[in-house]
Amino acid sequence: MKRILITGGAGFLGSHLSDRFIKEGYHVIVMDNLITGNLKNIEHLMKLEQFEFHHCDVSKFIHVPGKLDYILHFASPASPIDYLKTPIQTLKVGSLGIHNCLGLARAKKARVLIASTSEIYGDPLVHPQHENYWGNVNPVGPRGVYDEAKRFQEAMTMAYHTYHGLETRILRIFNTYGPRMRLDDGRALPAFIGQALRGQDITVFGDGSQTRSFCYVDDLVEGIYRLLLSDYIHPVNIGNPDEITIKEFAEEIVKLTGSKSKITYLDLPKDDPKQRRPDITRAKKVLDWTPKVKRAEGLKVTLEYFKKVV
Ligand code: UDP
Repeated sequence: MKRILITGGAGFLGSHLSDRFIKEGYHVIVMDNLITGNLKNIEHLMKLEQFEFHHCDVSKFIHVPGKLDYILHFASPASPIDYLKTPIQTLKVGSLGIHNCLGLARAKKARVLIASTSEIYGDPLVHPQHENYWGNVNPVGPRGVYDEAKRFQEAMTMAYHTYHGLETRILRIFNTYGPRMRLDDGRALPAFIGQALRGQDITVFGDGSQTRSFCYVDDLVEGIYRLLLSDYIHPVNIGNPDEITIKEFAEEIVKLTGSKSKITYLDLPKDDPKQRRPDITRAKKVLDWTPKVKRAEGLKVTLEYFKKVV
């Protein structure tokens, strides 16, 4: 049986990955310090013999007894509100945390896949964003703690590949949504759905003309699975190129929920990217991957989840 370590495995994405690798017959070991993760996301896996949970901080020394085939490094606060609340932990998990994972991988001869992000492109001057674009990041702005940690993480991972011959994979995740997102993580989607369900004003930041492109979580997980098992070592964007303005997105959610909420406009946060859409040419070519779930479909499933939570 293949053994995989998933750091941040109690979080939104980590828990969906745990489900997928359990389904594929792997032994799954999850590490999480539960700062932003939640045991509820993995409680259905706890009793399985194929599954282990370790409550620990991967920024400190980590140890896994026995063999290990793969490591997925997904531990990190990942929404602007979260990393503003925990800037030092965010920097540590992207630097010390990945160093620990890479060291462990070397000792175990395991393959490592890191969760990088479209945030490494910053407020992009190239649109859509392809992997050869190096980005436009403000290192000392509010998003710098996340963006620079992820950029360092990519550099460190590539260095381990180049100097130690470690098998590594670099994934750049664009905005992703689905069940198990936290209602209070401050992101547009949970914020809008929560506000719509409670009949509160929908808080659009700025004039809402900034764009994002939302990928359903199952599509992302499929892309990650393919990338992990591929032999491709350069960064790969995974995301859905279906781009929408935040204002239109807010209107879409009001309509979907049948809510009477009105849209209200608040200040745009500093360094908020004006546009974002993945160029997925590389993922199509090297992984034969494209997203399958349309936003209308994915939002319906996600809304059902949030109805239970609100
Ligand atoms: N946003 C908004 N209202 C909210 C939360 C977010 O208008 O209540 C905006 C935010 O300023 C950004 C977009 O929605 O332009 C997406 O934000 P999110 O935090 O979901 O993701 P990210 O900025 O990391 O792409």
